[in-house]
Amino acid sequence: MTTRLLIRRGRVIDPTQGIDEVADLTLANGKVAAIGRAAEQPGDQVIDASGKIVCPGLIDMHVHLREPGNEDAETIASGAAAAVAGGFTSIVCMPNTKPALDTEAMIEFVYRQADRARSCNVFPIGAITKGREGKELAEIGQMVRAGAVAFSDDGVGVASATVMLRALQYVGMFNRPIIQHCEDADLAAGGCMNAGFTATRLGLPGIPAAAEELMVQRDLLLAEATGCAYHVAHISTAGAVQLVREAKRRGIRVTTEVCPHHLLLTDEFVEQYDTNYKMNPPLRSKSDVEACIAGVADGTIDCLVTDHAPHGREGKELDFQSAPFGIVGLEVALGLFAKALVAPGHMNWNQLIARMTTAPARILGLRKGSLALGSDADVTIIDPDLPWTVDTSLFQSKSRNCPYEGWPLVGRATHTIVGGELKFTLEA
Ligand SMILES: [Zn+2]
Ligand SMILES: [Zn+2]
Repeated sequence: MTTRLLIRRGRVIDPTQGIDEVADLTLANGKVAAIGRAAEQPGDQVIDASGKIVCPGLIDMHVHLREPGNEDAETIASGAAAAVAGGFTSIVCMPNTKPALDTEAMIEFVYRQADRARSCNVFPIGAITKGREGKELAEIGQMVRAGAVAFSDDGVGVASATVMLRALQYVGMFNRPIIQHCEDADLAAGGCMNAGFTATRLGLPGIPAAAEELMVQRDLLLAEATGCAYHVAHISTAGAVQLVREAKRRGIRVTTEVCPHHLLLTDEFVEQYDTNYKMNPPLRSKSDVEACIAGVADGTIDCLVTDHAPHGREGKELDFQSAPFGIVGLEVALGLFAKALVAPGHMNWNQLIARMTTAPARILGLRKGSLALGSDADVTIIDPDLPWTVDTSLFQSKSRNCPYEGWPLVGRATHTIVGGELKFTLEA
């Protein structure tokens, strides 16, 4: 006899079915078995979800796991543990490991390590070019067969328009999206924070908004010409949001995502030269933050991601210019998005959940992000009213590069269920 998992009396939200009601959710054999009143049977595992939200498992379509190459900062197993602690049942990892995920064997390696970790689902993104060098297309067809869900050279943008055009044509044949780290390397060269008043005052070299917007603009022309699905990674400037908005209006197949830090922090936070405020794209101006929030609210920005980028202490202890870009985000993202978007009234929980489940599943063509009968039993239970304080010493991630230490947040995942199995329970 198989064990059933009954989640009782929660507010079940499933954007794919338009469901938002108090109900029981029954999981059996790794699948969603029923929504509605359930009679308890002997042997059932029961979770009382009164006062909580029960929704499709959260998906983060932009994370960096450091395996292979820098397992001191993160492994596939530790990244997956951080994910379930943050309420994520699926994460999608970027190929900028050492070596890069640019062959069939490397894609298979990620799936194998994720299987061994027995935590959340991990879906790899393959590199667009060999070694992410921007020159020669990688073995894209073979990586698709091995299960690569998208292609990106993230960490850098594809600088050559010719290579990018070929990549869009080729990847488009497999009906997979290209995810671009939009940054003109020439304009951004040497920069370590947003170009602007604060950078000038601190005497730090800047990365202008135009470096992002130039590549978005170019790629939209190429995406329009090829008809390939194109996704702008970690959008951060008002101009880029406006370019995507207009392109969507013209019917170009473009989607985009935004990180918590580009909704909550500005370049003024760099003031103390704290390297936990160094990321790429950099923290921008107040008007950029406002434009990103407006972009999420009006649907220009499809989904919410962390760009979880673990770095060991040695790296982040360097001076601001030398330190690596990026911060961890998996264990704080849900509370941060609630703070940025739900608390001020830009959207409700139902809409927030859609941006963290249905939207990434749709962009990547994953059969995830739904509680329809027979779907994989990936479920997140959220206490939307739970106050808590960020304590990086409790992180499952191997890295602690996080600017939110001590922040009071409201809203947190209390249970994370992957394939019908409880993988995380928040200790009371
Ligand atoms: Zn990037
Ligand atoms: Zn990234």
